Formats: sequence, C-alpha cells, structure tokens
Amino acid sequence: MDGASKRGKGRGMARGKNPDANMIPVEGARRIVLGCMRSTEVREVPAWQAAGLPLAADIETDIDLAPFANSAMDGYALHAEDLAAATADGPVVLDVVGHEAAGHVFEGEVGHGQTVRIMTGAPVPEGLDGVVKYEVVEVLEGDGNEGSRVSFTAPAKPGENIRAAGLEARAGDVVMAAGEVVTPAGAGLLANAGHAFVPVHRAPRVGIISLGTELVDAGAVPARGQIRDVNGPALMASAREAGAEPVFYGIAPDDEERICELVRRAASECDVVVTSGGASAGDYDYVTALIEREGEVLFDRVSIKPGKAVTFGLLGETPFFGLSGNPAGAFVGFELFVRPALRKMMGHTELARPVQEARATHGIKKRPGRAAYNRARVERAGADDELEVMQAPTQNSALLVDLHRGNCLVMLDEDAGRVEAGETVAVLRYDVPEGTVL
Ligand code: AMP
Ligand code: MG
Repeated sequence: MDGASKRGKGRGMARGKNPDANMIPVEGARRIVLGCMRSTEVREVPAWQAAGLPLAADIETDIDLAPFANSAMDGYALHAEDLAAATADGPVVLDVVGHEAAGHVFEGEVGHGQTVRIMTGAPVPEGLDGVVKYEVVEVLEGDGNEGSRVSFTAPAKPGENIRAAGLEARAGDVVMAAGEVVTPAGAGLLANAGHAFVPVHRAPRVGIISLGTELVDAGAVPARGQIRDVNGPALMASAREAGAEPVFYGIAPDDEERICELVRRAASECDVVVTSGGASAGDYDYVTALIEREGEVLFDRVSIKPGKAVTFGLLGETPFFGLSGNPAGAFVGFELFVRPALRKMMGHTELARPVQEARATHGIKKRPGRAAYNRARVERAGADDELEVMQAPTQNSALLVDLHRGNCLVMLDEDAGRVEAGETVAVLRYDVPEGTVL
C-alpha cells in the first residue's frame, strides 16, 4: 500500500481530495502543540551554566545578604551621634583605636570619642552606625591608624556609608523563584545565596532529518536534479539557538522504509523529532501517513504561508514535527511551533517572540486566505526614528538570503487583504529573545 492511500485512516480525519480541508489556524495549532509538551527532567548544573535557563525550583538563601553590616567606603567607622556638633569651625576629634580590612574582624569595643579605620567590605564594628570616607577626614596626629587622632568637620547620618546586614535578603528568603530565567548577575546572586549548583530542565534532544531523494550534503557537488540540503544545517542551528541539543540523523531519500527507520530511531533516542520535506501532497510525501501508522497525527495543515504543510503528531510519547521542505516554510514552522515547544520543555513561560508595529515602506500583496508570515527587515528610520518595515522583494519560499539578512516576519491575518505603503503592520521579531521589551 502506498502512503497516499493510507491517508484518511488515522483519528477519523476526513481527508478527501483536498488536503487543505484539514487546515487549522496558527493559534489552534500552537495550542495543540503546547498541550502535548512535557518538561524534560531536572538536573543540577553549576549556577553559571544556568544563565539563560529558567530555574526548576525556588532558590532560598541560607544566610542574610549581606551577612553582616559592612562599610561601603574606605574611611572611619564611628558613632554618628559623636559628630552631631561637627562643623568646619568646630571640628570633632576622635581617637583611632583600631584598623579593619576586608576579611578581618575588629573584636574590640569602640567607645564614644573613638573610631576605627575601616576598608570597603570590612564588617562595621558592633555598636557603630556611621562611616565617614577618608577624603573628608583630616589626620591630626599619627599615620591615621591605631593611636592617631583624626578630625571631622561635618555630622554623619546614622547608617551613612554602611551596607546593612540583610539589605538584599534575609536567611530563608527566596532569592530567585522557579521559572525565573537566570542571568549572569543572577548566577552571582545564586552563589551568594549558597548555591554552587541549581536545578534546571535538561536541554531537549532534537532529532533532525532531511527528507528528499534530491538532497545531497554541503560537501557534495549536486548532479543535475539534485540540490544541497539546506534545512538540515538551518534547523540544527535553530534548535541550538533555542537552547536545545540538536542531533542530525541525516538525509533520507523518499523511500518509506528508509524514512520510517530513521524516524523510529530518532524518536527512540530524542525528546522531539523534526523532519523537513515530504510533507506536502506530492506523490512521494509519506510523512503524514507514516506518523498516522506509527503513532498519532494531531494536525497536518496549518493556515499559514509559507509552510502550510506542517504535520504534528506523537510517536509514542515523542512529539513529531514534519515541516515543509521549502526552506522558508521550514524556518517559519520551526519559529511558530517547534521553538515554543522546546522552550516549554525547558520550563520557559515566555513562549512568544516579541511582536511590534511598524510602518510598511511599500505596498504588500495579500489575498484573504492563509495567514502570511512574510520575510522582512524592520529598522528605525526618518527624522522621527519611526519603525519602518521593508519586506523582501520576493517571497519565494526557496530563497534564504532575505531570512538571513532580515529580522522579522510581517504577520498578516487570514482575512487581511492588500496593505498599502505607509500602513502599520505587526511584525514578529525573530532576532530577539522571547520576553524582550522593545
Ligand atoms: P517537499 O516538502 O518535499 O515537497 O519539498 C518542497 C521543496 O523544498 C522542494 O523544492 C524540495 O526540493 C525543497 N526541499 C526539501 N527539503 C529540502 C532541504 N532539506 N533543503 C533544501 N530544499 C529542500
Ligand atoms: Mg520532497
């Protein structure tokens, strides 16, 4: 039995002569995809390696942050009230009774009329509540250390130049909540809270397969009728950029057995399988039928242009994405469905790329029908620094350079018609991370 005649058997999906009869809108498709995603296991990684990842648990600090009141300046620690009357004409003179460097603790008692020379980060001796910086202190006798006499010409506010104990957090406080994405500064905060290792979700393994008898790899010179595999490397890069671990399973010719073998292997070894090609309604497009036979197809057409031929299903527990073979279609399919899915598996809650409004520099052709995701580049231009979007001159799905040089997709609804130059359109920024405020 060939692939085409098997269509229509799975899940009672009515597949008549028109394969587009099953087409569903983008949002519905995305809901189905996200509904199937389970997070990967949690493992502990060094705090610095968690940067860019959401935490899998709340993280508490075991100590106060800062752990003790410490000086924010190099200067003299004292009782602030001792300087209440200090003026330029009537300076207050104190006796230096000790010296404190960072990492060193002054154990003695400091009485009224006394002061301790202190360095930035050193603990403020018990009972003292002010630090006056060196620059405004005059040394009257000695070298400024123990045994010296120093003079002050202005009052100090209680707490001045002191970083209080527990300023940032108290022992037992949650310093970073589950789901919060660790930043480099956050890695420092986690270390400060006593966590050399923190729990995050493992990067999902993404098995990538390129389907098509015409495909050869980049190292080969294509014979007539052959083309180089573009989607393999492009999807590997996209998966890596999404924070996943891509694994390339190679190119499979349009042969049902070969495809089946590779897809099964990838599904058993990976968290997600992504193929490109063989997904439309051509004579050799086996993907949907294969998933229907081996697992379950949840949708196989999405109302988008480019890349409407998206098959999504489950092979046992493993989510499967069969993307369109056209490079632009594969890219859009990855952006709209695979990337949010991988992010969900890693515990991210921000799943959508930023969308912004921009003025179209030129008219944009569009007929009501499928939603469009047109390749474009948005920039600030003109005297008012307004956002302008220039769409690539041709939207031929086989062209890559405009996706490479572009930074956004112009999103036009299913019902949208032609856009005139100067009108405002929504653009999806694929060059900036989810959650970015633009
Ligand atoms: P298909 O989905 O197999 O019908 O492929 C649609 C178009 O995309 C055809 O022109 C294919 O040759 C092309 N194509 C499919 N896979 C790839 C790939 N991995 N790299 C570049 N082009 C591809
Ligand atoms: Mg093909």
